[in-house]
Amino acid sequence: MKPQLKVSLKPYNTLSLDVKADYFVRIHNINDLHLARNFCQMNDCPWLLIGGGSNLVLTQDFEGLVMVMAMDKVFWPSNITVPKMSDKFALSAEAGYEWDRLVEETIQKGASGLENLSLIPGQVGAAPIQNIGAYGVELAHCLTSVDVFDFKTGQTFQLTTTECKLGYRDSIFKTHPHWIVTQVNLTLNFEHEPQVGYGIIADTIASISGQSITDPSPQQIRDAVIHIRRTKLPDPKYIPNVGSFFKNPVVTSEQVESLTQIWPGLVSYPVALIPVAKTSKTHSSYYKLAAGWLIDKLGWKGFREGGVGVHEHQALVLVCSGSAKGKDVLDLALRIQADVKANFGVKLEIEPRLFDSRGEFTYNLD
Ligand SMILES: Cc1cc2nc3c(=O)[nH]c(=O)nc-3n(C[C@H](O)[C@H](O)[C@H](O)COP(=O)(O)OP(=O)(O)OC[C@H]3O[C@@H](n4cnc5c(N)ncnc54)[C@H](O)[C@@H]3O)c2cc1C
Repeated sequence: MKPQLKVSLKPYNTLSLDVKADYFVRIHNINDLHLARNFCQMNDCPWLLIGGGSNLVLTQDFEGLVMVMAMDKVFWPSNITVPKMSDKFALSAEAGYEWDRLVEETIQKGASGLENLSLIPGQVGAAPIQNIGAYGVELAHCLTSVDVFDFKTGQTFQLTTTECKLGYRDSIFKTHPHWIVTQVNLTLNFEHEPQVGYGIIADTIASISGQSITDPSPQQIRDAVIHIRRTKLPDPKYIPNVGSFFKNPVVTSEQVESLTQIWPGLVSYPVALIPVAKTSKTHSSYYKLAAGWLIDKLGWKGFREGGVGVHEHQALVLVCSGSAKGKDVLDLALRIQADVKANFGVKLEIEPRLFDSRGEFTYNLD
Protein backbone atom coordinates (compact mmCIF):
# COMPACT_ATOMS: atom_id res chain seq x y z
CA MET A 1 0.00 0.00 0.00
CA LYS A 2 1.41 3.38 -1.01
CA PRO A 3 -0.65 6.24 0.47
CA GLN A 4 -0.76 9.60 -1.28
CA LEU A 5 0.84 12.40 0.75
CA LYS A 6 -0.65 15.74 1.89
CA VAL A 7 -4.03 15.33 0.18
CA SER A 8 -6.72 18.03 0.51
CA LEU A 9 -9.91 16.65 2.09
CA LYS A 10 -12.08 19.46 0.68
CA PRO A 11 -13.78 17.16 -1.88
CA TYR A 12 -14.36 14.51 0.81
CA ASN A 13 -16.51 16.47 3.28
CA THR A 14 -19.81 18.24 2.55
CA LEU A 15 -18.80 21.30 4.61
CA SER A 16 -15.98 21.70 2.02
CA LEU A 17 -13.48 22.30 4.81
CA ASP A 18 -10.02 22.58 3.31
CA VAL A 19 -7.80 20.51 5.60
CA LYS A 20 -5.08 18.11 4.51
CA ALA A 21 -4.38 14.48 5.34
CA ASP A 22 -0.73 13.49 5.86
CA TYR A 23 -1.53 10.11 4.24
CA PHE A 24 -4.52 9.18 2.10
CA VAL A 25 -5.82 5.90 0.64
CA ARG A 26 -8.98 4.44 -0.84
CA ILE A 27 -10.24 1.16 0.59
CA HIS A 28 -11.45 -1.25 -2.12
CA ASN A 29 -11.54 -4.50 -0.13
CA ILE A 30 -10.82 -6.12 3.23
CA ASN A 31 -7.19 -6.69 2.25
CA ASP A 32 -6.78 -2.90 1.86
CA LEU A 33 -8.02 -2.55 5.44
CA HIS A 34 -5.36 -5.02 6.65
CA LEU A 35 -2.67 -3.08 4.76
CA ALA A 36 -3.91 0.24 6.14
CA ARG A 37 -3.89 -1.20 9.66
CA ASN A 38 -0.30 -2.42 9.23
CA PHE A 39 0.68 1.02 7.90
CA CYS A 40 -0.77 2.77 10.96
CA GLN A 41 0.90 0.33 13.33
CA MET A 42 4.30 0.64 11.62
CA ASN A 43 4.11 4.44 11.48
CA ASP A 44 2.39 4.78 14.85
CA CYS A 45 -0.14 7.19 13.36
CA PRO A 46 -3.86 7.81 13.92
CA TRP A 47 -6.44 6.96 11.27
CA LEU A 48 -9.80 8.23 10.15
CA LEU A 49 -12.36 6.57 7.89
CA ILE A 50 -14.50 8.82 5.71
CA GLY A 51 -17.58 7.69 3.80
CA GLY A 52 -19.45 10.46 1.97
CA GLY A 53 -18.20 13.04 4.51
CA SER A 54 -21.74 14.33 5.12
CA ASN A 55 -21.73 13.94 8.90
CA LEU A 56 -18.35 15.16 10.04
CA VAL A 57 -16.53 18.38 10.87
CA LEU A 58 -12.78 18.44 10.16
CA THR A 59 -11.17 21.18 12.22
CA GLN A 60 -7.44 20.65 11.50
CA ASP A 61 -5.02 18.97 9.10
CA PHE A 62 -5.05 15.27 9.95
CA GLU A 63 -1.68 13.93 11.15
CA GLY A 64 -2.32 10.37 10.11
CA LEU A 65 -3.94 8.10 7.54
CA VAL A 66 -7.31 9.09 6.07
CA MET A 67 -9.12 6.19 4.40
CA VAL A 68 -11.99 6.80 2.02
CA MET A 69 -14.35 3.82 1.83
CA ALA A 70 -14.61 2.57 -1.77
CA MET A 71 -15.94 -1.01 -1.34
CA ASP A 72 -19.05 -0.75 -3.47
CA LYS A 73 -20.57 -4.06 -4.51
CA VAL A 74 -24.26 -4.88 -4.07
CA PHE A 75 -25.46 -8.47 -3.73
CA TRP A 76 -29.01 -8.76 -5.07
CA PRO A 77 -30.88 -12.01 -4.43
CA SER A 78 -31.03 -14.30 -7.46
CA ASN A 79 -34.88 -14.53 -7.44
CA ILE A 80 -35.34 -10.75 -7.53
CA THR A 81 -37.12 -10.85 -10.90
CA VAL A 82 -39.80 -13.14 -9.47
CA PRO A 83 -40.86 -11.05 -6.49
CA LYS A 84 -44.07 -12.87 -5.72
CA MET A 85 -42.06 -16.00 -4.80
CA SER A 86 -41.76 -14.45 -1.36
CA ASP A 87 -42.94 -11.23 0.27
CA LYS A 88 -39.48 -10.48 1.67
CA PHE A 89 -35.94 -10.58 0.37
CA ALA A 90 -32.45 -10.19 1.77
CA LEU A 91 -30.06 -7.74 0.22
CA SER A 92 -26.43 -6.91 1.03
CA ALA A 93 -24.46 -3.83 0.04
CA GLU A 94 -20.83 -3.01 0.70
CA ALA A 95 -20.07 0.02 2.83
CA GLY A 96 -18.92 2.36 0.05
CA TYR A 97 -22.10 2.09 -2.04
CA GLU A 98 -24.01 5.37 -2.24
CA TRP A 99 -27.01 5.20 0.09
CA ASP A 100 -29.55 6.97 -2.10
CA ARG A 101 -28.55 4.95 -5.16
CA LEU A 102 -29.38 1.81 -3.18
CA VAL A 103 -32.75 3.25 -2.13
CA GLU A 104 -33.58 4.12 -5.73
CA GLU A 105 -32.56 0.70 -7.05
CA THR A 106 -34.59 -1.22 -4.45
CA ILE A 107 -37.71 0.75 -5.41
CA GLN A 108 -37.06 0.15 -9.11
CA LYS A 109 -36.98 -3.57 -8.34
CA GLY A 110 -40.42 -3.34 -6.71
CA ALA A 111 -39.29 -3.50 -3.08
CA SER A 112 -40.26 -1.24 -0.21
CA GLY A 113 -38.79 -0.30 3.15
CA LEU A 114 -36.23 2.37 2.33
CA GLU A 115 -38.39 4.94 0.49
CA ASN A 116 -38.78 7.31 3.48
CA LEU A 117 -34.97 7.41 3.73
CA SER A 118 -34.59 8.77 0.18
CA LEU A 119 -31.97 11.37 -0.61
CA ILE A 120 -30.06 11.10 2.69
CA PRO A 121 -26.48 11.84 1.60
CA GLY A 122 -23.61 9.47 2.35
CA GLN A 123 -22.71 5.84 2.06
CA VAL A 124 -24.38 2.58 3.04
CA GLY A 125 -21.64 1.82 5.61
CA ALA A 126 -22.33 5.00 7.58
CA ALA A 127 -26.08 4.34 7.77
CA PRO A 128 -25.91 2.10 10.89
CA ILE A 129 -23.41 4.42 12.64
CA GLN A 130 -26.11 6.90 13.61
CA ASN A 131 -29.07 4.73 12.57
CA ILE A 132 -30.12 7.19 9.88
CA GLY A 133 -33.72 8.24 10.06
CA ALA A 134 -36.24 10.49 8.36
CA TYR A 135 -40.02 10.90 8.12
CA GLY A 136 -40.86 8.28 10.73
CA VAL A 137 -38.51 5.51 9.52
CA GLU A 138 -35.04 4.52 10.71
CA LEU A 139 -32.51 2.13 9.23
CA ALA A 140 -33.33 -0.17 12.18
CA HIS A 141 -36.65 -1.04 10.46
CA CYS A 142 -34.86 -2.93 7.66
CA LEU A 143 -31.46 -3.86 9.07
CA THR A 144 -30.67 -7.56 9.55
CA SER A 145 -26.95 -7.46 10.37
CA VAL A 146 -23.71 -5.61 9.78
CA ASP A 147 -20.30 -7.01 8.74
CA VAL A 148 -17.45 -5.44 10.66
CA PHE A 149 -13.65 -5.16 10.43
CA ASP A 150 -12.00 -4.47 13.79
CA PHE A 151 -9.18 -1.99 13.10
CA LYS A 152 -7.60 -2.80 16.49
CA THR A 153 -7.35 -6.57 16.04
CA GLY A 154 -7.70 -7.07 12.28
CA GLN A 155 -10.55 -9.52 12.88
CA THR A 156 -13.85 -9.60 10.98
CA PHE A 157 -17.23 -10.47 12.46
CA GLN A 158 -20.95 -9.90 12.10
CA LEU A 159 -23.33 -8.04 14.44
CA THR A 160 -27.09 -8.61 14.47
CA THR A 161 -29.42 -5.60 14.54
CA THR A 162 -29.94 -6.09 18.27
CA GLU A 163 -26.18 -6.21 18.84
CA CYS A 164 -25.83 -2.91 16.93
CA LYS A 165 -27.80 -1.24 19.81
CA LEU A 166 -29.49 1.19 17.46
CA GLY A 167 -31.18 4.22 19.01
CA TYR A 168 -32.11 7.75 18.01
CA ARG A 169 -29.08 8.82 15.92
CA ASP A 170 -27.10 6.30 17.92
CA SER A 171 -25.51 2.82 17.78
CA ILE A 172 -22.78 0.71 19.35
CA PHE A 173 -20.39 2.07 16.69
CA LYS A 174 -20.30 5.43 18.47
CA THR A 175 -18.59 3.78 21.44
CA HIS A 176 -16.54 1.40 19.24
CA PRO A 177 -15.04 3.76 16.65
CA HIS A 178 -12.41 1.13 15.72
CA TRP A 179 -15.18 -1.08 14.26
CA ILE A 180 -15.38 -0.43 10.53
CA VAL A 181 -18.59 -1.42 8.77
CA THR A 182 -17.69 -3.28 5.58
CA GLN A 183 -21.16 -4.52 4.57
CA VAL A 184 -24.77 -3.88 5.54
CA ASN A 185 -27.38 -6.66 5.27
CA LEU A 186 -31.02 -5.66 4.90
CA THR A 187 -34.43 -7.32 4.69
CA LEU A 188 -36.89 -5.57 2.40
CA ASN A 189 -40.51 -6.25 1.50
CA PHE A 190 -42.50 -6.81 -1.64
CA GLU A 191 -45.68 -6.33 0.43
CA HIS A 192 -45.77 -2.55 0.79
CA GLU A 193 -46.86 -0.91 4.04
CA PRO A 194 -46.65 2.83 3.42
CA GLN A 195 -45.27 4.88 6.33
CA VAL A 196 -47.00 8.21 5.88
CA GLY A 197 -47.58 9.15 9.53
CA TYR A 198 -45.85 12.47 8.84
CA GLY A 199 -48.70 14.53 7.35
CA ILE A 200 -46.33 16.42 5.10
CA ILE A 201 -45.71 13.25 3.03
CA ALA A 202 -49.42 12.63 2.36
CA ASP A 203 -49.94 16.34 1.60
CA THR A 204 -47.01 16.42 -0.82
CA ILE A 205 -48.18 13.24 -2.59
CA ALA A 206 -51.61 14.83 -2.96
CA SER A 207 -50.19 18.06 -4.33
CA ILE A 208 -47.87 16.23 -6.79
CA SER A 209 -50.61 13.88 -8.06
CA GLY A 210 -53.51 16.30 -7.78
CA GLN A 211 -55.56 13.93 -5.61
CA SER A 212 -55.52 12.40 -2.14
CA ILE A 213 -53.97 8.90 -2.21
CA THR A 214 -54.53 6.57 0.76
CA ASP A 215 -52.14 3.80 -0.29
CA PRO A 216 -49.17 5.48 -2.03
CA SER A 217 -46.54 3.33 -3.74
CA PRO A 218 -42.87 3.35 -2.61
CA GLN A 219 -42.05 5.43 -5.70
CA GLN A 220 -44.75 8.00 -4.81
CA ILE A 221 -43.37 8.25 -1.27
CA ARG A 222 -39.82 8.58 -2.61
CA ASP A 223 -40.88 11.35 -5.02
CA ALA A 224 -42.61 13.20 -2.18
CA VAL A 225 -39.64 12.85 0.19
CA ILE A 226 -37.25 14.07 -2.51
CA HIS A 227 -39.54 17.01 -3.23
CA ILE A 228 -39.75 17.96 0.46
CA ARG A 229 -36.01 17.59 1.04
CA ARG A 230 -35.10 19.62 -2.04
CA THR A 231 -37.45 22.38 -0.91
CA LYS A 232 -36.36 22.44 2.73
CA LEU A 233 -32.70 21.46 2.83
CA PRO A 234 -29.71 23.13 1.17
CA ASP A 235 -27.82 20.97 -1.32
CA PRO A 236 -24.24 20.63 0.01
CA LYS A 237 -22.96 20.84 -3.58
CA TYR A 238 -23.94 24.52 -3.61
CA ILE A 239 -24.22 25.41 0.09
CA PRO A 240 -21.77 23.42 2.26
CA ASN A 241 -23.53 21.81 5.24
CA VAL A 242 -23.90 18.54 7.16
CA GLY A 243 -27.69 18.46 7.47
CA SER A 244 -29.08 18.80 11.01
CA PHE A 245 -26.32 20.10 13.25
CA PHE A 246 -28.15 19.23 16.48
CA LYS A 247 -30.18 16.26 17.64
CA ASN A 248 -33.75 16.89 18.76
CA PRO A 249 -33.52 16.99 22.59
CA VAL A 250 -35.57 14.46 24.56
CA VAL A 251 -37.41 15.87 27.60
CA THR A 252 -40.14 14.76 30.00
CA SER A 253 -43.84 15.59 29.64
CA GLU A 254 -43.50 17.83 32.73
CA GLN A 255 -40.79 19.86 30.98
CA VAL A 256 -42.96 20.13 27.86
CA GLU A 257 -45.86 21.36 29.99
CA SER A 258 -43.89 24.07 31.76
CA LEU A 259 -42.09 25.16 28.58
CA THR A 260 -45.40 25.40 26.70
CA GLN A 261 -46.66 27.87 29.29
CA ILE A 262 -43.77 30.21 28.48
CA TRP A 263 -43.47 29.29 24.79
CA PRO A 264 -46.95 28.59 23.35
CA GLY A 265 -46.71 26.61 20.13
CA LEU A 266 -43.66 24.62 21.32
CA VAL A 267 -43.23 21.75 18.85
CA SER A 268 -42.82 18.30 20.45
CA TYR A 269 -43.41 14.64 19.53
CA PRO A 270 -44.04 11.78 21.99
CA VAL A 271 -41.16 9.29 22.14
CA ALA A 272 -41.89 6.43 24.55
CA LEU A 273 -42.92 5.56 28.07
CA ILE A 274 -39.77 5.10 30.12
CA PRO A 275 -39.43 4.64 33.91
CA VAL A 276 -38.29 7.92 35.50
CA ALA A 277 -35.92 5.99 37.77
CA LYS A 278 -35.35 2.27 38.22
CA THR A 279 -36.50 2.47 41.84
CA SER A 280 -39.54 4.59 41.15
CA LYS A 281 -42.96 3.32 40.16
CA THR A 282 -43.87 6.67 38.56
CA HIS A 283 -43.63 6.93 34.83
CA SER A 284 -43.17 9.97 32.70
CA SER A 285 -43.79 10.25 29.00
CA TYR A 286 -40.82 11.44 27.02
CA TYR A 287 -41.00 13.92 24.17
CA LYS A 288 -38.64 15.03 21.43
CA LEU A 289 -38.52 18.78 21.04
CA ALA A 290 -37.99 20.14 17.53
CA ALA A 291 -34.49 21.62 17.92
CA GLY A 292 -35.01 23.70 14.76
CA TRP A 293 -38.08 25.35 16.33
CA LEU A 294 -36.12 26.31 19.46
CA ILE A 295 -33.29 27.82 17.40
CA ASP A 296 -35.72 29.60 15.09
CA LYS A 297 -37.64 31.08 18.05
CA LEU A 298 -34.42 32.71 19.26
CA GLY A 299 -33.98 34.44 15.91
CA TRP A 300 -30.97 32.51 14.57
CA LYS A 301 -32.50 31.55 11.21
CA GLY A 302 -30.62 33.33 8.42
CA PHE A 303 -27.86 34.53 10.79
CA ARG A 304 -24.49 35.14 9.08
CA GLU A 305 -21.09 36.01 10.51
CA GLY A 306 -17.84 35.66 8.65
CA GLY A 307 -18.01 32.52 6.58
CA VAL A 308 -20.58 30.69 8.72
CA GLY A 309 -24.27 30.96 9.41
CA VAL A 310 -27.66 29.35 9.94
CA HIS A 311 -29.64 28.40 6.84
CA GLU A 312 -32.38 30.87 5.98
CA HIS A 313 -35.12 28.22 5.65
CA GLN A 314 -33.94 25.56 8.12
CA ALA A 315 -32.64 26.70 11.53
CA LEU A 316 -31.21 23.26 12.32
CA VAL A 317 -28.71 23.47 9.46
CA LEU A 318 -25.45 25.38 9.86
CA VAL A 319 -23.88 26.45 6.59
CA CYS A 320 -20.48 27.74 5.64
CA SER A 321 -18.66 29.32 2.74
CA GLY A 322 -15.48 28.12 1.08
CA SER A 323 -13.20 30.15 3.34
CA ALA A 324 -14.68 29.04 6.69
CA LYS A 325 -12.83 26.81 9.12
CA GLY A 326 -14.29 23.91 11.08
CA LYS A 327 -13.58 25.79 14.32
CA ASP A 328 -15.76 28.71 13.09
CA VAL A 329 -18.67 26.32 12.54
CA LEU A 330 -18.21 24.83 16.01
CA ASP A 331 -17.98 28.24 17.67
CA LEU A 332 -21.32 29.19 16.13
CA ALA A 333 -22.79 25.86 17.28
CA LEU A 334 -21.61 26.61 20.81
CA ARG A 335 -23.23 30.06 20.80
CA ILE A 336 -26.53 28.53 19.67
CA GLN A 337 -26.26 25.80 22.30
CA ALA A 338 -25.68 28.43 25.02
CA ASP A 339 -28.61 30.56 23.85
CA VAL A 340 -31.00 27.58 23.77
CA LYS A 341 -29.81 26.46 27.21
CA ALA A 342 -30.29 29.95 28.65
CA ASN A 343 -33.79 30.39 27.24
CA PHE A 344 -35.29 26.88 27.27
CA GLY A 345 -33.12 25.15 29.88
CA VAL A 346 -32.47 22.42 27.31
CA LYS A 347 -29.07 21.22 26.10
CA LEU A 348 -28.71 20.63 22.37
CA GLU A 349 -26.37 17.82 21.44
CA ILE A 350 -24.20 18.18 18.34
CA GLU A 351 -25.05 15.51 15.73
CA PRO A 352 -22.03 15.36 13.35
CA ARG A 353 -18.75 13.79 14.41
CA LEU A 354 -15.86 16.18 15.16
CA PHE A 355 -12.19 15.56 14.31
CA ASP A 356 -8.94 17.41 15.02
CA SER A 357 -5.39 16.55 13.92
CA ARG A 358 -5.27 13.23 15.85
CA GLY A 359 -8.86 11.97 15.98
CA GLU A 360 -12.36 12.48 17.31
CA PHE A 361 -13.20 14.98 20.04
CA THR A 362 -16.32 16.44 21.65
CA TYR A 363 -17.15 20.13 21.77
CA ASN A 364 -20.07 20.97 23.98
CA LEU A 365 -21.34 23.26 26.67
CA ASP A 366 -20.27 21.96 30.11
C1 LIG B 1 -28.22 17.80 3.41
C2 LIG B 1 -28.09 16.68 4.43
C3 LIG B 1 -29.22 16.03 4.90
C4 LIG B 1 -29.11 15.00 5.84
N1 LIG B 1 -30.27 14.39 6.27
C5 LIG B 1 -30.19 13.38 7.16
C6 LIG B 1 -31.38 12.72 7.60
O1 LIG B 1 -32.48 13.02 7.17
N2 LIG B 1 -31.25 11.72 8.50
C7 LIG B 1 -30.04 11.33 8.98
O2 LIG B 1 -30.00 10.41 9.79
N3 LIG B 1 -28.91 11.92 8.59
C8 LIG B 1 -28.95 12.95 7.69
N4 LIG B 1 -27.80 13.57 7.29
C9 LIG B 1 -26.51 13.18 7.87
C10 LIG B 1 -25.72 12.15 7.01
O3 LIG B 1 -26.13 12.18 5.68
C11 LIG B 1 -25.83 10.73 7.55
O4 LIG B 1 -25.39 10.67 8.87
C12 LIG B 1 -25.03 9.74 6.70
O5 LIG B 1 -25.29 8.42 7.13
C13 LIG B 1 -23.53 9.99 6.77
O6 LIG B 1 -22.91 9.18 5.80
P1 LIG B 1 -21.47 9.47 5.26
O7 LIG B 1 -21.06 8.32 4.41
O8 LIG B 1 -21.40 10.80 4.64
O9 LIG B 1 -20.62 9.45 6.62
P2 LIG B 1 -19.34 10.31 6.97
O10 LIG B 1 -19.73 11.74 7.20
O11 LIG B 1 -18.24 10.04 6.02
O12 LIG B 1 -18.94 9.69 8.39
C14 LIG B 1 -19.72 9.95 9.55
C15 LIG B 1 -19.12 9.14 10.71
O13 LIG B 1 -19.29 7.76 10.45
C16 LIG B 1 -18.02 7.10 10.36
N5 LIG B 1 -18.11 6.13 9.26
C17 LIG B 1 -18.38 6.39 7.96
N6 LIG B 1 -18.39 5.23 7.27
C18 LIG B 1 -18.13 4.24 8.15
C19 LIG B 1 -17.99 2.82 8.06
N7 LIG B 1 -18.11 2.19 6.90
N8 LIG B 1 -17.69 2.12 9.19
C20 LIG B 1 -17.53 2.76 10.38
N9 LIG B 1 -17.64 4.10 10.53
C21 LIG B 1 -17.94 4.81 9.43
C22 LIG B 1 -16.99 8.20 10.09
O14 LIG B 1 -15.71 7.84 10.57
C23 LIG B 1 -17.60 9.36 10.87
O15 LIG B 1 -17.30 9.25 12.22
C24 LIG B 1 -27.85 14.62 6.33
C25 LIG B 1 -26.70 15.27 5.86
C26 LIG B 1 -26.81 16.29 4.92
C27 LIG B 1 -25.58 16.96 4.40
